[in-house]
Amino acid sequence: MSEGVDATTSVVEYLTELRRSLAGAVLAPADPGYESARRCFNALIDQRPAVIVRCLGADDVGTAFDFARVHALPVAVRGGGHNPAGHCVCEGGLVIDLSLMRKVEVDGDARVARAEGGATWLDFDTATQAFGLVTPGGVVGSTGVAGLTLGGGIGHLTAQHGLTCDNLTGAQIVTPDGTVVRANGDENPELLWGLRGGGGNFGVATRLEFRLHPVERVVGGRLTFAGGGVLEALRVYRDVVARAPRDLSCEAVLSVNESLTPELLVAPCYTGADGDPTELRALRSLTGLVEDGVRAHSFLAQQHVFNPAYGVDRNYWKGHFVRELPDELLDALLQRMVELGRPPGQILIESLHGAPKDTDPATAAVGFHDAAFNISAMASWLDPALDDRLIEWARATAAAIEPWSVSGGGYVNYMQADEPIERVRTAFGDRSFERLQALKTRYDPKNVLRRNQNIPPR
Ligand SMILES: Cc1cc2nc3c(=O)[nH]c(=O)nc-3n(C[C@H](O)[C@H](O)[C@H](O)COP(=O)(O)OP(=O)(O)OC[C@H]3O[C@@H](n4cnc5c(N)ncnc54)[C@H](O)[C@@H]3O)c2cc1C
Repeated sequence: MSEGVDATTSVVEYLTELRRSLAGAVLAPADPGYESARRCFNALIDQRPAVIVRCLGADDVGTAFDFARVHALPVAVRGGGHNPAGHCVCEGGLVIDLSLMRKVEVDGDARVARAEGGATWLDFDTATQAFGLVTPGGVVGSTGVAGLTLGGGIGHLTAQHGLTCDNLTGAQIVTPDGTVVRANGDENPELLWGLRGGGGNFGVATRLEFRLHPVERVVGGRLTFAGGGVLEALRVYRDVVARAPRDLSCEAVLSVNESLTPELLVAPCYTGADGDPTELRALRSLTGLVEDGVRAHSFLAQQHVFNPAYGVDRNYWKGHFVRELPDELLDALLQRMVELGRPPGQILIESLHGAPKDTDPATAAVGFHDAAFNISAMASWLDPALDDRLIEWARATAAAIEPWSVSGGGYVNYMQADEPIERVRTAFGDRSFERLQALKTRYDPKNVLRRNQNIPPR
């Protein structure tokens, strides 16, 4: 049987049997809930799977893989549904949907959390904050813990505690042949290395284990700069993070507001003892500041600084890790925003100072510990008639950043589905990519898991 839509008709006849063999649920195109279950964060992706399997555990994942194999269906894996490439869904295939598997267990004394494969950051942070603990995760609560971690993980606590994947201490995965494999420092350490950045290439993670750190209250929120003050604020932002201590993480978002004026949002997250951090005074005293929303608040409140709507905008993202942020590049970024000339859409600047630099890069597959910043052009829009123009804007903006790129590869978590394999390879570097290919050959030799930033088997 060929892959895709043609398979749908015959598959439907077998769904009763599949339903009986699962603890979880099955959604077919005619079922209530199917339409919302197939929706991605990125409204540009509109695909109709033949069947969505809502798993309740590792056994269900194995059953779903069996069904896909028997019916020659392509497979997609859904965690939080946020991947901008829309890899959580596939046309005419089978989706292994983990959205019912969201339990997070915390051992406060051992400072360890165990999350099921479909947990979101809101699930995770809520559970760990009950113990005054965190792991550095993503900045939007509805994003999936597994998807984000397996691709790296940059957020409000990166300077303090490193990339999310650097805090991953163990995992349980189900490989496409149904085998349950554990990875930790003692068992399959090479797989653990690969899971720290290599994405969902090797199996479906049904459990992930993280190291936790004490953090409850932070000084955070947003600083908004507009108009003529934006360029100066960008320069000061760069200088502040360049000399920032490890207790200050800071992201910046360049955009154009409703009055078509350039705007810069700076989102600091400070965990030190100072109630009015010296490092932030340079930014808070600038004349271009139009709104100062920085205050002491809970870490959970910090996790609501960014709250984009799910499944509304069409999105196309492209960017680079850069080694520096010179004035020339800042000028170019501002110029690209003026060129865009309309909201929404933004350029995200994530600083990678602090703890990522203390991590031994040999412990993880991700290839960007050494970068200074991750800069991403994020086009977003509503009207399909704008598709070509805005995709082209994101591509041209990434091209303007490229001369400062560390390697030419970008962040796999932000990549679209049209990125060529060379760019995925470059994101890891040749040596790590070959190690990842060896893992792929071992755990998924038939490349069943290819709806991702794919690492093909050898
Ligand atoms: C609004 C928004 C905010 C974001 N914020 C951040 C951020 O702050 N920091 C950051 O680093 N990234 C961020 N990202 C990017 C995000 O990390 C990636 O898009 C990630 O892939 C999303 O994971 P997900 O589970 O939500 O997505 P999904 O689309 O459900 O999954 C994406 C892919 O991850 C893999 N996957 C997911 N779950 C599993 C699993 N249990 N086992 C095996 N493979 C799995 C699969 O290959 C799947 O196709 C953001 C994205 C969006 C849209």
